[in-house]
Amino acid sequence: MVGQAADGFLSIRHLVKEFVSDDGGTFRAVDDISLDIRKGEIFALLGPSGCGKTSLLRMLGGFDLPTSGSIILGGQDLAQLAPFERPINMMFQSYALFPHLSVWDNIAFGLKREGLPKDVVAERVEAMLKLVQLGKFAQRKPHQMSGGQQQRVALARSLAKQPKLLLLDEPLGALDKKLREETQIELVNIIESVGVTCVMVTHDQEEAMTMASRIGIMSEGSILQVGTPNEIYETPTSRFVADFIGNVNLMDGTLAVDEASHVEIQCDDVRHWVGHGITGHEGMPVTVALRPEKIRISPRPPVPGEEDLAPAPLNQVKGKIKDMVYFGSDTLYHLQMPSGAILKVSQSNTERHPDDHLTWDDEAYAWWTPSAHVVLTQ
Ligand code: ATP
Repeated sequence: MVGQAADGFLSIRHLVKEFVSDDGGTFRAVDDISLDIRKGEIFALLGPSGCGKTSLLRMLGGFDLPTSGSIILGGQDLAQLAPFERPINMMFQSYALFPHLSVWDNIAFGLKREGLPKDVVAERVEAMLKLVQLGKFAQRKPHQMSGGQQQRVALARSLAKQPKLLLLDEPLGALDKKLREETQIELVNIIESVGVTCVMVTHDQEEAMTMASRIGIMSEGSILQVGTPNEIYETPTSRFVADFIGNVNLMDGTLAVDEASHVEIQCDDVRHWVGHGITGHEGMPVTVALRPEKIRISPRPPVPGEEDLAPAPLNQVKGKIKDMVYFGSDTLYHLQMPSGAILKVSQSNTERHPDDHLTWDDEAYAWWTPSAHVVLTQ
């Protein structure tokens, strides 16, 4: 079953959330999700808008009740606990800081409400201020802080109650791109130093890849694949996941040769040589997923024997450069293949003035190794 693991600290079982749809029927925003989250990990729920991420997170936080299914945290069924009794805290995208309270009082708020003794409150607030390195700003009001600093106050406030589970809803969504990148690593370091288990929701794949130990890719209320960022990127198991994460060339074709040690896949412009067997049969329709950075491009054809090549003319195509996007560290080429379809090829700009300079309308050869592709059957 997708998402099952033996060592679940947070175990989600057959969770369903239905809403009444516009035509009066029911609509499943979360459709029978089972998932295990490990203690101490940062788990990201990633998916397009409307796929059900927030609905799932809200049920974990106790803000919404499941239609059916169970949520077990550290062996305890959460359905038996009122939201305020749950050892869970949620940090909202808007941070929801109290504007009239100082940073110190914002962090202390939940602790005071819990009725903790004054000295314990003070001790915890000081520890949190130190953790997020905002000791100097304790008496400032939120509007006197930058977006990144406010985000750290919100995090300190969420962690002050020492939750077993921290929920983050688009944690960096309110920050601009550069600050977001800097803050991602900072946030991970703080969360890891406290050791709290964390589930975050994001539609930003870079954020999920940078911050999470594992990612669950969601679509239409279901989790399609769970894996480390590397597994999700390099070994997607479906067309949706391959296409959703990063840049990819998807080529539909037919399994033409099916051997235990390799397969050949005939597509419109290319015959692929894949250096491993797959579960399938000859004549079966399959999709080849090929990441742009796995492809080499040059004005000259590949030299046999120079690298790990498939038997010529497999895994190569000649085309014309129709477009180029220069990103500085790399360039993305759009190579038009004989059928008119575009092959995206990304090349690192390792040299400032390469001999093999390519430009618009140049003819070029593209090729890739037998291990470059992922063959998708769904
Ligand atoms: P986004 O990234 O845009 O926030 P999401 O993946 O978090 O999207 P949800 O907010 O969980 O998606 O919504 C999932 C689906 O459930 C959507 O189609 C949404 O319109 C619907 N939905 C969410 N809340 C309600 C509600 N209270 N009543 C009816 N439908 C709802």
